[in-house]
Amino acid sequence: MKFKSTISTVLVTGGAGYIGSHTTLLLLQAGYDVVVLDNFVNSKPEALRRVAEIAAREPEIIKGDIRDSDLLDQLFRNFSIFAVIHFAGLKAVGESVTNPLTYYENNVCGTVSLLQAMTRANVTRIVFSSSATVYGDPASVPIREDFPLKATNPYGATKLYIEEILRDIYRSEPHWRIAILRYFNPAGAHDSGMIGEDPCGVPNNLIPYIAQVAVGKLSELSIFGSDYDTHDGTGVRDYIHVMDLAEGHLAALNALETLSLITCNLGTGIGYSVLDMVNTFSEVSGKPIPYRISNRRLGDISQCYTDPTHARNTLNWKAGRGLTQICGDHWRWQLKNPNGYKLE
Ligand code: NAD
Ligand code: UDP
Repeated sequence: MKFKSTISTVLVTGGAGYIGSHTTLLLLQAGYDVVVLDNFVNSKPEALRRVAEIAAREPEIIKGDIRDSDLLDQLFRNFSIFAVIHFAGLKAVGESVTNPLTYYENNVCGTVSLLQAMTRANVTRIVFSSSATVYGDPASVPIREDFPLKATNPYGATKLYIEEILRDIYRSEPHWRIAILRYFNPAGAHDSGMIGEDPCGVPNNLIPYIAQVAVGKLSELSIFGSDYDTHDGTGVRDYIHVMDLAEGHLAALNALETLSLITCNLGTGIGYSVLDMVNTFSEVSGKPIPYRISNRRLGDISQCYTDPTHARNTLNWKAGRGLTQICGDHWRWQLKNPNGYKLE
C-alpha cells in the first residue's frame, strides 16, 4: 500500500464492479484520488486497468474484503480518505432467496464492518448504493422517496436493513453525512465501449440478456409475462444510463458538502416496457431479437419508475441520456467485448 495524503481521496468499495468502475472513472476524471477496495468476487481487475487507460490516471487498487476489519483499519491509516462510496455487495435476487445467510453476511455484516472502521478512523461521509427494490410492489407510480418501504426478498432486505442502520447512525451521530441512493435499472456502458457490465454466466437482467441475443450468444429472449396492466402488457421499468448514475454519485458527494442526510431515487422518470427495449435494441443494433412470451417471473412487479423531482432538487442532477443512447452504448460494449473482460 502506498502512502498518500490528500483531502480529496475517496474510498470506493466494489469499485471494480459495473457501476463502481464507471463511477471510479468519473471520480478520477474530476480530479479525485481514488482507492478501490474490491475482493473481485463478481468483477475483474481488467475493468480497473481499462478505467486507468481511459482516465490516464490510476486508482489505488486494494484486493480485499469489506469484512476484513484489520485491512480496513490499515487502509484508513494509510490514506487520507474523506468519503466512502459503498458499492460492494452481492446483488442476485434469486441467489439471495437460495442463500439468504450469504447475503446478510456479505451485505449487512460487511457494511457494519465498514461503518465500524469508518467510525474508528473518524471518516463520517458515505454514499450508499440502495435500490428501488426497497419499495417492494408500490401502490402507484411514479415512485417518490416518501413511499412505504418493504422488502420482498433477502437481497432487498439487506438494502432496507442497511438503510435503517445508516438512519440510526445519523440519529445518534448527527455530524455524519450520508447519502442513500436508490437506483432504478442501470444499463448501458461508457461510450468508449471499453468498460461495461460483465455478468457471470447467463444474464438475469433484461438488457445484458437482449445484448447477448443480438450478438448471437443466446438464441432467444423469454419475455416474462405479457398480461401486466401496462401499455403493451409487458413489465415496465426505469432504465438509467450507467454514466448518468455515476454522475449522480459525484452530485451526491457535492451535495453532502451542505446536506447531512440525503435519500434520493436515481432514475429517469420514464418507464419503458420489455417490448420497447426489444424494439429499440433491435433498431440500434440492426439485429433481430427473437423472443417468446413465457410465464411471469416470480416476484416481478408490473411497473416501476421514479418521480425524479426530489433528486433534481436535492442533487442538482438529472439523468440526461435516453433509451437510444443506453442501447447504443450497451451494444458497442457487447460488440467490442463478446466475452466481457475475459482476455483471449
Ligand atoms: P457488481 O457486482 O458489478 O459490483 C459489486 C462489486 O462489489 C463487485 O466488484 C464485487 O466483486 C464487489 N464485492 C462484493 N462483495 C464484496 C466484499 N465483501 N468485499 C469487497 N468487495 C465486494 O454490481 P453493480 O451492478 O455494480 O452494483 C453495485 C451496487 O449497487 C451493489 O451494492 C448493488 O446491490 C447495487 N445496485 C445495483 C443495481 C443493478 O441493477 N446493477 C440496482 C440497484 C442497486
Ligand atoms: N425480463 C424479461 N426477460 C428476461 C429478463 C427480464 O422479460 O430475460 C423483464 C422482467 O420481467 C422485468 C424487466 O424485464 O419486467 C426488467 O427485468 P430485470 O431483471 O432487468 O430488472 P428488475 O426485475 O430488477 O427490475
